Amino acid sequence: MQIYNSATRRKEEFVPNNPDIVKMYTCGPTVYHYAHIGNLRSYIMEDVLEKYLRYAGYNVKRVMNITDVGHLSSDADTGEDKMLKGAKREKKTVMEIAAFYTDAFFEDCRKLNIKRPDVVEPATNCIEEYIHLIERLLENGHAYEAGGNIYFDTSKLEKYYIFNEHKEEDLAVGVREGVEADDNKRNKADFVLWFTKSKFEDQELKWDSPWGVGYPGWHIECSGISMKHLGEDLDIHCGGIDNAFPHHTNEIAQSEAYLGHPWCKYWFHVLHLNTTGGKMSKSKGEFLTVSLLEEKGYDPLVYRLFCLQSHYRKSLVFSYENLDNAAITYNKLVNRIAALKEAEGELIDEAAMEALREKFHKALGNDLNTALGVTALYDVLKFATNAKTKLALIGEFDTVLGLSLLEAAAKARAEQEKLAKAETHATVVTEGEPNAEAEALALARIEARKAKDWAKADELRDALKALGFVVEDTREGAKLKRI
Ligand code: AMP
Ligand code: ZN
Repeated sequence: MQIYNSATRRKEEFVPNNPDIVKMYTCGPTVYHYAHIGNLRSYIMEDVLEKYLRYAGYNVKRVMNITDVGHLSSDADTGEDKMLKGAKREKKTVMEIAAFYTDAFFEDCRKLNIKRPDVVEPATNCIEEYIHLIERLLENGHAYEAGGNIYFDTSKLEKYYIFNEHKEEDLAVGVREGVEADDNKRNKADFVLWFTKSKFEDQELKWDSPWGVGYPGWHIECSGISMKHLGEDLDIHCGGIDNAFPHHTNEIAQSEAYLGHPWCKYWFHVLHLNTTGGKMSKSKGEFLTVSLLEEKGYDPLVYRLFCLQSHYRKSLVFSYENLDNAAITYNKLVNRIAALKEAEGELIDEAAMEALREKFHKALGNDLNTALGVTALYDVLKFATNAKTKLALIGEFDTVLGLSLLEAAAKARAEQEKLAKAETHATVVTEGEPNAEAEALALARIEARKAKDWAKADELRDALKALGFVVEDTREGAKLKRI
């Protein structure tokens, strides 16, 4: 596979350090709020990468941290503690907030068919590991104590800026007005490894350390957790592009200063999802979540398809119009798959399998071109071969794309069959008091379904819901029940 490596700024052939296992690390969510669909874009694309590697024959061990301590609202060690902010907002403890939003995150992942990494480790579980790393960094002169905190000394490195040619002034980016610069730092780029004299008097989570009671900085957690579960080298490290600097830059600095040798081979960064109004961010208050999309009647997998339709290294603009287009594509795809009928005694056409698989590998193996991966599904549908072969290939490709295509097609087929039986019964019965408006909508929905206009039918179901009715399709026709 060819993969773009942000560290070298080129596409490279992917060769893991050990052919038997690909070691993959992902920066997990900061669990002080729901994940927004921008965060989830990153996790969807990382999920496709992991699944493609497995499909291509690799064993993968993937580790993800859960940031439940130490992440301040500016990535450069300034601002408020994000977890504390969440706890204050909801009048709960930090650990309650962390547990709630960790579960919410994995629930979103489940809806989006994002596989849970093999290891998921909350940052608060590994304090000993961070203390050990920091002790070594102090011993070998890469860290210093100042004002009660421990800092990493970036001036000791031959090369600190890995991903781009930053200037020191760039560090001012993200620092909000009124936030004081930290005078303890010897160099502007230095970062906190361990806070003891923090500005947060009310910090809830603190641990004993050789430097006093305190808590770890944000960056050290990913080095500590990665080394705990994956050892001293790493094949792929993933995250959204905003993580490249300073977070990943600092991870590399401290890991390599600790290890004394190169650490991670490939850096995979997903570009941002933006709205037409600009960057999406949790701190802005209102943001788009998977639940919000569901409330508006979208299947979360439509959002997954929307993400797959563009390349992970291009920023993507979200709009409902674009999502509607993805919904149309998804429904069309599902209906075409639903129309595939396997005849009795059909055999797998191995030659067709090979030819079509090659197209899929060409797409995904070329720096994860998921848009072409989706096109490969259409190639399967168009190819002159039998339904059994097509269905087998679609199932195979979907282990990577994760769109639940066969399940959705089976559901669509069942609905269509039910509809065919009920076709002569275009009647609407209302439980209790009849409601003319609701009955007209239900009849229009039967017509839309007959015309296979599933999007329209869904819209009408939502309109009925807004009127206070659920619709149930029965052999006798549609039944309206009050919610
Ligand atoms: P956080 O929960 O803020 O630690 O972020 C979780 C992940 O989402 C990180 O990998 C971020 O780099 C990534 N991320 C943040 N904002 C966006 C966005 N708008 N689009 C894509 N990825 C994002
Ligand atoms: Zn990280």
